[in-house]
Amino acid sequence: MTHMPDNTHDGTAPPPLIADHPALEMLNTVSIVEGQPRDHWQTDEDVRAWLARMELPLPRDATAASGQLLDTARRLREAIRYLVQQRKASALGDPGVLNDFLRDGASYVQLVWPSGASPQVVRHGLHHSLAAALYPLASQAAELLSQGDFERVRACEHPECVLWFYDRTKSHRRRWCSMAVCGNRFKVTEHRKRVALK
Ligand SMILES: [Zn+2]
Repeated sequence: MTHMPDNTHDGTAPPPLIADHPALEMLNTVSIVEGQPRDHWQTDEDVRAWLARMELPLPRDATAASGQLLDTARRLREAIRYLVQQRKASALGDPGVLNDFLRDGASYVQLVWPSGASPQVVRHGLHHSLAAALYPLASQAAELLSQGDFERVRACEHPECVLWFYDRTKSHRRRWCSMAVCGNRFKVTEHRKRVALK
């Protein structure tokens, strides 16, 4: 049996960054590898490495029990996935889980002005918590859901692909996560269909 090369997203390689939006990029940490959904987040370290690639590194003193970062990040990711899918389907979504992250991760600043010293801004809040570390993603998801143009928020058109992107092309006609991967795979399939019909 000839195996069609699937260079889509090698299971061992880090997930591709193709979404043009951090919250959608987060959804794309699940992709299809050899026909099966693959979660690129299997350990805390996977999440940590992904956050570093997104330039949202965990604070060094963010402490959590083993496995907790993975669980927390997955919970946020799947909440965002559900809300994006609902919004895309023009259906009502329950923002409860996302709102928990927005509340628990929020912080605020205060001006502290000790006598004999210059005033300083001090940030308060649970900024060593995992919710705080993931707050930028939760916040960008909320912004996307409320202000994003969902005509341009799309899933890749390839039937065997689950990746999302924000179409920022001038023509607004982006169809694929990657032209090199899904666009070409699609063209090859269409070409085979045409040849078969002759
Ligand atoms: Zn694709």
